[in-house]
Amino acid sequence: MNIHFHGAAHEVGKSCIEIVTDDGAQYLLDAGVKFIQGGVVYPELLEHINKVDAVFLSHAHMDHAGALPFLEHRKLNCPIYTTRMTWKIANLLLEDAYHIAQLEKLHPAYKKRDIRRAARDVKEIDYDRDYRTPDGAVAFRYLNSGHIPGGASVLLELEGKRVLYTADINTQETLLMVRSQLAQEMRALGVSDAAPLDALIIETTYGNREHPDRAQTHQAFVHAVEEALERGGNVLVPAFGVGRAQEVLLMLSALPSHVPIFLDGMARTIAKLIVAEDDPYVRKRHALAEMLRRTTMVTRATRTQVLSTPGNVIVSTSGMVQGGPSVYYTEQMYNRPDDTIILTGYQVEGTRGRSLWEDHLFYRHGTALPVTCTVQKFDFSAHYGMGAIHDLITDVPHKKLILQHGDHSALDAVATFARTHLTSEVHVPYNGDVITV
Ligand SMILES: [Zn+2]
Repeated sequence: MNIHFHGAAHEVGKSCIEIVTDDGAQYLLDAGVKFIQGGVVYPELLEHINKVDAVFLSHAHMDHAGALPFLEHRKLNCPIYTTRMTWKIANLLLEDAYHIAQLEKLHPAYKKRDIRRAARDVKEIDYDRDYRTPDGAVAFRYLNSGHIPGGASVLLELEGKRVLYTADINTQETLLMVRSQLAQEMRALGVSDAAPLDALIIETTYGNREHPDRAQTHQAFVHAVEEALERGGNVLVPAFGVGRAQEVLLMLSALPSHVPIFLDGMARTIAKLIVAEDDPYVRKRHALAEMLRRTTMVTRATRTQVLSTPGNVIVSTSGMVQGGPSVYYTEQMYNRPDDTIILTGYQVEGTRGRSLWEDHLFYRHGTALPVTCTVQKFDFSAHYGMGAIHDLITDVPHKKLILQHGDHSALDAVATFARTHLTSEVHVPYNGDVITV
């Protein structure tokens, strides 16, 4: 078989890997988009592909799922295999992305009905069960990835070969997610030095960086919120809507019950969804339900009231202050010395969050305004770090190692480690490259 890379090769964004068998069957691992300044980029393949036999969708993030309605728009209607939670979240995010694209006159490449069509093609998959495509050509299994609710690594067996696609994974347990234990799972499924995987395709987002200890970061975060409240102002916690915001809520359960906590934006809808679904790899669902009862849900109508009194904690999307209500709150708070903004994840260069943290500037309508509130940042990541990547590729026997979903320096660092310590063939493809397995 040939594995074609149409996105996320030497970049992060528009994940889309195509497997073409010797019989001419075509399968996609993810179909994502990449958001750039003023637009959306699709994997090039999707413009001219005429047939897809199945899509194996790893998780709901738009850089993995955002192009699915475009496949429907091109009338390729193929089965989309994914977990129930992933589709529920992806559906929400796709509708939100479509809405935003229309508001910003970005002309989405598909119609709203294509999202409904994708929904009809979804085949729900349970974790840890063996499945086969109807024609029997592909055996597959979804394994917990620990990345976000619903997220999975995908093991495929076709033409007598086994391919593992980690997708985005996290091997550190978080308050919300059970960690990925891929190495142990592969051993249990019979992967060994004598029977290695034919190809191991991994993400390398943090290939050259380590994360701090999760539990310690958690303690430091709660302490920072307590200190911020003692300063007498309000506290804004911008957080990614899927996973991070709910994890933050769980952390905030350590605060005394008289501290008012508010939840705003997409994080609100996703939190309700996570509580409503019985996903086996989501931890502390009941504690999250308890926190939702304690939390005041903010709507557009009640938003202006939230900052009228001090002593409140507001959790809101987006995590990089690029859109959503966190922009509104920042606009109100950036010049109030008693207030605090606590960032909870990586801030991409060029985002408002990055400028707040690095330059102490808030960009409003293109004007840079000096920030006088306190800004802090904590490294909560949903991806495994450098050491965990090394452990995984050392512990899972494989013939070919394929590195993707990382920037140049992250890919280089993992490739150097692999070439020094392992005997497998190491590939670092570019978009458009083909690897024969
Ligand atoms: Zn992801």
